[in-house]
Order: sequence, then structure tokens, then C-alpha cells
Amino acid sequence: MVRRACVAHPTAFLGRRSLRRFGPSRARDALATLTYDCDMLIPMDVVALTRQLVDIESITGNEAHVGDVLHGELCRSGYESNKISIEGNRCNVYATSPEQPTPAVVFSTHMDTVPPFIPSSEDATRVYGRGSCDAKGIIATQIAAAERLRKENIHVGLLFLVGEERDSLGAKLANENSRGCKFLVNGEPTENRIATASKGTLRVNVTAAGRMAHSAYPELGESAIDKLLEALNRLRAMKLPFAEGIGPATLNVGVIEGGRAPNVIPDYARAQLLYRLVGPADDLRNQIQQTVGDLAKVEFVLEIPFVRLRTLDGLPTMVAAFTTDIPWLGNWGQPLLVGPGSIHVAHTDGEYVEKKQLADAVDLYCAIAKKLVQH
Ligand SMILES: [Zn+2]
Repeated sequence: MVRRACVAHPTAFLGRRSLRRFGPSRARDALATLTYDCDMLIPMDVVALTRQLVDIESITGNEAHVGDVLHGELCRSGYESNKISIEGNRCNVYATSPEQPTPAVVFSTHMDTVPPFIPSSEDATRVYGRGSCDAKGIIATQIAAAERLRKENIHVGLLFLVGEERDSLGAKLANENSRGCKFLVNGEPTENRIATASKGTLRVNVTAAGRMAHSAYPELGESAIDKLLEALNRLRAMKLPFAEGIGPATLNVGVIEGGRAPNVIPDYARAQLLYRLVGPADDLRNQIQQTVGDLAKVEFVLEIPFVRLRTLDGLPTMVAAFTTDIPWLGNWGQPLLVGPGSIHVAHTDGEYVEKKQLADAVDLYCAIAKKLVQH
């Protein structure tokens, strides 16, 4: 009886869709795992919702459909959901309970994924597919947590953004329309540990110029590649900043290109570098410029600042070496960063999320929201 009530419950995102998507027998199997009382907990299967979302391709730029589905389901579940147009038909989705249109706590993450699309699958312990870990499993757990909290009369907002994997366009525009919340619980794969900080990013292009000549007479030319190699050697030997409790800044020489043919002294060479920041970037920029000197031209093409984050007593912590939407969401209250899944499998062919981490994340998001609303 209780199980049947779960499916018929108006907030059962998954009941109807599971039936449509998997057919009656698969849906029955899913129901067999639902053993909780609907009056106490949420009649929601986060695994099924994660798979439903993974199966909607939403590579950056193509988030319209997944946004429509989330908006539609949130409306049907009784939320006041709004689509906020970002670019073309790409929209952020922001939902609140009618009982609390300006919640103190907002859960957020992103709807876009990196390419290529990989459909969902699962085994006993994991859900696989593009976005399972980064970040559609997180969307599912945040909705499930919001639903559970709503039953306890705690009302959080839900903010799902476009464009995180490319330029954080959704976050940047969302920041212009903040609803005045006190805390933003942003979800990225941290294996359910609270991030104490999120490293920043500094992208640098180093371009060397030279003069072409026949390779038999190198003294007649000037090798751009030799200059670039020397500049890169100096940069790789440069001591990078270290922040206590966070660790070192790091450098990746990600791309090298240049030259024309083995028998031509090269007149052009360029490297694209990416530094992960553990503090303000001003000193590092100066140091890079001075180290390269006249060997090459230095261009700073992108900077995402390092951010220290709020933590909560008693919960395990980590440092996020990756960047997130958080630096662009400064008007959405004090940021926290936590979510199920491992960043080590995000963006890989075998991307997955542990089912146990999904279940734990629902509990964790609820516990975090409760602690925050007491402040
Ligand atoms: Zn992500």
C-alpha cells in the first residue's frame, strides 16, 4: 500500500517516467527497492532520476531540453519554477516552494555536460553515463533533498544552470538576478566531502616570434621554437605559490604548436598554459611576465579566482582543485561546495556515480540545509 502510494504521490518525479521509460516490469523492480514510508520520506528514486537526466543529451549549448524537463517536473511537483533565458533557447531553472519564495538556502549545480554524449546504464552499485557524476546525479539528489526538507517545513531553492563546462554563462547571468539567499550549496563531485576551497584558474598564452631561414644555415634565422622552449623551461622551474591547508598552485603546459617543416627555421611558436591558483593571481602574473622577459609575448586569456569556502563542523573536507560556478555567484550568499561522485571519473569515458553516494548525498544536503537555517 505504501509502495503504491509512492508512485501515485504528486511529487513522484519518477513514478510516471519510470513506467514510460522502462516499461511495467522494470518499474516494478524499481518499486521493490522503495521500502520507506511516503509520509516520512520522499517517494523518489534518485537512481532513476539520475538516469532519466543522463539520457537527455545536454552538452554545453544544448541544455534547452533538460531545462524544460526539470522545469516541467518541478512545476508539476508544486514548485514555483522559473526558466530564465540565457542565450537562444538555453535557460537557467530556478524553483522555490510557494511557502517560501525567498529561501535562505539555495541548492545549485549545472545542467550541461562535456562531450561526447554517453547514455545511461547501471549495475548493482553504480550509475554510468555522461553527467552521471558531473552533475546530473547531483541534480537528482538536490531535488530529493529539497523534497524531503519540504516535508519538514524547511524550504530551499533549487538553481540549475547552463554553461558551467565552458564559460559559466548561466552563473554569470544568474548573479545579476540573485534572490537574496544567505547560503548557496553548490554541487560538484567532491565525494560528499565539503570543500574548504576551490582553486582558481589562470590561462596564459606564450607566443614566440622568429625569422625563417634554410635549416642548413640556422645563423641566418631566429628560431621561435628555441625561444619558446627556453621560456617554458624557465616557467617550469619557477617556484609557485603555496597556501597552508590548501597546497601548491600547479602548472600544466597543455598545448604546444609552431614551426613549418623540419628544414625551416621556425618563425612562430605558441604554448597554452593553465595554472591552478591558491590565492590572488597578481604576483603570479608579474612573475610570469618577468620570467619570460623578451623571449616571448605573454597573454593572460582567462582568470577565475581562487575562493575559500564555508565549511561546517564535523563534516569531512577536501580541497577542490577544479573550478566551479561559485566565483560567478557572489550575490547568492556564502558558498559551500559538496556533492556525490568523484572528479577523477568526471569527463572520462567511464564516468559513473556510486549509488550509495547518491543516497548519502540526499541525507547530507538535508543535514547541511538544517544546520544553515539555524544560523
Ligand atoms: Zn561539474
